[in-house]
Amino acid sequence: MKIDDIINQQRIEEIINRVVFDEKKFLDIIEKSKEKKGLSLEDVAIFITAPQEMSDYLFKTSSWIRREIYGNRTVLFAPLYVSSYCVNRCAYCGFQAQNHQPRMKLDSVRIRLETEALLDMGHKRALLECGEDPSHNSLDYVLSAIRQIYGTKNSKGDSIRRVNVNIAAGSVEDYRRLAEVGIGTYNLFQETYHQPTYEKVHPQNTPKGNYERQLFAMNRAIEGGLGDLGMGVLYGLYDWRFELLALISHAQYLDRTFGIGPHAISFPRIQQAGGVEFMPPFPVSDDDFLKIIAIIRMAIPYAGMVISTRENPEIRLKAFRIGISQTSAGSSTVPGGYACPNKGKKMLKQFELHDNRSLDEISYELLVKGFIPSHCTACEFQGRMGKNFMPFAKSGNIKNFCQPNALITLKEYLLNYASIATNRLGQEIIEWELSLLPALRRSTTEEWLRRLDRGEKKYFYT
Ligand code: SAM
Ligand code: SF4
Repeated sequence: MKIDDIINQQRIEEIINRVVFDEKKFLDIIEKSKEKKGLSLEDVAIFITAPQEMSDYLFKTSSWIRREIYGNRTVLFAPLYVSSYCVNRCAYCGFQAQNHQPRMKLDSVRIRLETEALLDMGHKRALLECGEDPSHNSLDYVLSAIRQIYGTKNSKGDSIRRVNVNIAAGSVEDYRRLAEVGIGTYNLFQETYHQPTYEKVHPQNTPKGNYERQLFAMNRAIEGGLGDLGMGVLYGLYDWRFELLALISHAQYLDRTFGIGPHAISFPRIQQAGGVEFMPPFPVSDDDFLKIIAIIRMAIPYAGMVISTRENPEIRLKAFRIGISQTSAGSSTVPGGYACPNKGKKMLKQFELHDNRSLDEISYELLVKGFIPSHCTACEFQGRMGKNFMPFAKSGNIKNFCQPNALITLKEYLLNYASIATNRLGQEIIEWELSLLPALRRSTTEEWLRRLDRGEKKYFYT
């Protein structure tokens, strides 16, 4: 396996330098993207070169594709940081080893308390996060943390139904063990596809300093049996145009080689981290950030797209409209930050957040703006993962399953965790959305909703 099989850095640079904006081609590619079959790197380069006044075409089309594939659903989750120990020295990160602030690693009791706190907010999906540290955060520790999260019930008898993870690149054997414990999506961000930049911000004498270890990790993950993969670039490290083409190239390689494209693509943009002096060398403006999101929605239409609370509410709302289908809410980037929020304020954070609203506040806003806040985890229960998931996602058929599941999980949330205002609005919106479902689907969904009203606790999923 060679780096060039996944991304050919020279070719990407050549495309960026060669392609010049052409309005006719631009409009043709807009039409092509509506077929929802993806775009070539050359197509994407035309979008990249488009002047700002053409952005509206991109946003209108990507919003349309978002609605076609994902409807108006936005899936919610929260990160669960289990340890801030890390041996790496990623120049941008608050957890880097040279940041001499006190660290925290949650033991099983604290993981249970943290999980209960997330459940009490109404979350059903957690994203386990930690630094890389073979002695403090060994794979055995991570696996037992995952088991602890799945095994925790809150006072209402609810539990986390999908644990996604975002941990350092591992071996095939590591990934086999993660698959066995039953994780959802395995996320690993390349941070930057530009090798010289990668090697500059990740010192060579640290485990993460190895560009190839990071780049080939998805191949090992697939070999180890993981099928739902989450990719991303950390925007601000290098020229976003290069990163965008490289990410798409990586996604196309995985799809072509294994029949498994990315289940999720995340859009982290560098934020300040306490105790770390790092100025992003290629800061990405809000306009460009939104353009990146729109282009990815058009180039890889089937992928779930994730924005976190790194971004402020205003830009998040725009991002939901033009392509984002999953978001974190009520988040903390400190181990223990949910169960002990005050103590958490003084502890080492990975980075600063710009949306500090609660899950309920974010759910309310989503409802007001025409989205359905969803806590659905049905695909995992129905075996729609990895290769089995791709045909549903690519054909757009997934929305036939997702809409009823989203309404059911929204109802569960409203009945058990929402404020009075969110509950009232949510119930009205469920009625409205039911009226839009085809008759058979509507009657089954109504029956499940009635069973939730009667207090039945069971997964009602299609
Ligand atoms: N430690 C593992 C790793 O680096 O692969 C797991 C992921 S780390 C907990 C989550 C992600 O946070 C990193 O991959 C990086 O993209 C992002 N991140 C780190 N520092 C950041 C910062 N200052 N601003 C925004 N995102 C940051
Ligand atoms: Fe450690 Fe991950 Fe932060 Fe790098 S990004 S210092 S590996 S926690």
